[in-house]
Amino acid sequence: MSFEALGLHASIVQAVVDSGYTTPTPVQLQAVPAAIAGRDLLVSSQTGSGKTAAFMLPALHRLANAEPTPVGKTPAQEAQAAKARGERVRFKPAQPKMLVLTPTRELALQVTSNTDKYTAHMRRVRCVSILGGMPYPKQMQLLAKNPEILVATPGRLIDHMDSGKIDFSQLEILVLDEADRMLDMGFIDDIEKIVAATPSTRQTMLFSATLDGVVGNMARRITTDPMTIQI
Ligand code: AMP
Repeated sequence: MSFEALGLHASIVQAVVDSGYTTPTPVQLQAVPAAIAGRDLLVSSQTGSGKTAAFMLPALHRLANAEPTPVGKTPAQEAQAAKARGERVRFKPAQPKMLVLTPTRELALQVTSNTDKYTAHMRRVRCVSILGGMPYPKQMQLLAKNPEILVATPGRLIDHMDSGKIDFSQLEILVLDEADRMLDMGFIDDIEKIVAATPSTRQTMLFSATLDGVVGNMARRITTDPMTIQI
């Protein structure tokens, strides 16, 4: 089975080929068609299984099919124009279409760098990481570009939500990557708060080494009729 046969856009297939992938991994074979069909997913798979592409490729396919954002000024350009008119500049919140939550900076950076490869032939899809330990002014600059995809660790994301820098009302896709590790690290309240700020119509994909116990409970609470994939 090829990536093309999974139903992905030609631009995404080309980027995957450029990345040196020839055939989908087992988790990609199951997750990609289901996610393209709009299903929520609960996936038990390990690092190294190709799980990043398993959620990112169908998500990019969906974003590529979405109505293009009306042509207009970015929040940063609007702020500049307002300033030029002598008006008080107010920061317009970023309105991402996709959010990936990860337990660590390292994983977030890995997801972002893979995403940059997968979007090489797509227009208008920007991916930005929001991480603890990164200077706030730099992150404000990144958010002002209104990126379509945010990859974030939960604590820092909450800081930006609390200060009105992010508005999740347009969010279409939520991914929890290594959800069991995020819970082990004590992020449960942050995750609940973030999920509560997103539309209930979103597509949710949760990846975890295990789907039992606390993580299983949370997974069932935040998904709708999910397809379970065990690799
Ligand atoms: P992950 O499990 O997402 O951390 O991926 C592990 C590694 O496998 C990464 O370096 C990916 O770039 C690579 N990879 C993902 N999917 C494929 C594939 N279908 N064929 C070859 N390598 C892949």
